[in-house]
Amino acid sequence: MRKGYFGAFGGRFVPELLVPPLAELEQAVDNILPDEAFEKDMDQVCREFVGRPTPLYLCRNLSADMGFDVFLKREDLAHTGAHKINNTVGQALLARHMGKSCLLAETGAGQHGVATATAAAMLGLDCIVFMGALDVQRQSINVHRMELMGARVEPVESGTRTLKDAINAALRYWIAHQSDTHYCLGSAVGPHPFPLLVRRLQSIIGRESREQMLQQTGSLPDTVVACVGGGSNAIGIFHPFIQDTGVELVGVEAGGRGGPDDHHSSTLSRGTPGVLHGTHTFLLQSIEGQILPSHSVAPGLDYPGVGPEHAFLKDSSRARYEVIHDRQALDAFNLLSRKEGIIPALESAHAVAWVSESRDHIRPGSKVLINLSGRGDKDLDIVREQMAEV
Ligand SMILES: *Cc1c(COP(=O)(O)O)cnc(C)c1O
Repeated sequence: MRKGYFGAFGGRFVPELLVPPLAELEQAVDNILPDEAFEKDMDQVCREFVGRPTPLYLCRNLSADMGFDVFLKREDLAHTGAHKINNTVGQALLARHMGKSCLLAETGAGQHGVATATAAAMLGLDCIVFMGALDVQRQSINVHRMELMGARVEPVESGTRTLKDAINAALRYWIAHQSDTHYCLGSAVGPHPFPLLVRRLQSIIGRESREQMLQQTGSLPDTVVACVGGGSNAIGIFHPFIQDTGVELVGVEAGGRGGPDDHHSSTLSRGTPGVLHGTHTFLLQSIEGQILPSHSVAPGLDYPGVGPEHAFLKDSSRARYEVIHDRQALDAFNLLSRKEGIIPALESAHAVAWVSESRDHIRPGSKVLINLSGRGDKDLDIVREQMAEV
């Protein structure tokens, strides 16, 4: 495969001014990441700060109802309550090994901004987070969290004052400050080497899961299921199972409110190939190539692109991608809370929902592993609002 590509997807489609910092980062990914000193630091931070390994949990009540074994990889128990921290502590450590003193991030709902601010505080790095001015208003608690941990939050007043405007502002800032600043991208998206870097850092989820399944059950799972926004938690749990051809991989995208004309975030299932944020992948776009607005009840799934490796896994049929609507995700949110005493993030609830909706097609006695990417405390206001609507 060409470097930086996953089959026909991936690459580095960026303005010339972004080539030098990306080339420097590529060097660091090739040389620092595999280095023993880095691995030792990473291992220690994962154990002592993030709380790894996260448990593998057999849902006894849900399994009894379904007729097959449902396992959860408990990323909701990682520090800050989701898998995003695996990526940000890894990139923060890499930045320090590269001699950078500042972490730069963009954020939509604020989850990635909080995870970046957390990692920066722990390692004593400066942190600047660009956030659409509208999101700053809507997510004031996360702004407060970031500021508590010493990050500077920069509201972006251009465009729709949301995530894509924040990304543009962050890229402009990086061009001007590349000598001392690392851009900490939040998912397995963007130009090479980001999809590869984020996958390497999130693959710890799949490596631990694989070992825990073998240790706790004596065999590999039959099916691995994860929600797909940008695709980082999914590629993280999928990747160590890719060579295990007997293990089925299922990515679950957000179908939004449902109906053919409605807004959704089903990039792989209903999008077309194109270039967004520096990478060739599947997108939601008009016939003229304009990016279409996306929607999901889960803020972390609301993105009109997807990581290029998922485009490749879909194209090569190694993974398949399914769609779950807002309403089904909300049902699964309630189901897991009530049955198991675990309140899932609305994002993760999409993966739970696919398993629940597919129960009649899953072989009795088989083993299904779900990546529980995060906890749902952050979503209680959204859920309450949605419940009031029906
Ligand atoms: C951000 C987020 C996601 C979506 O991001 P991916 O890169 O697709 O993993 C999923 N789950 C949770 C809990 C999140 O915070």
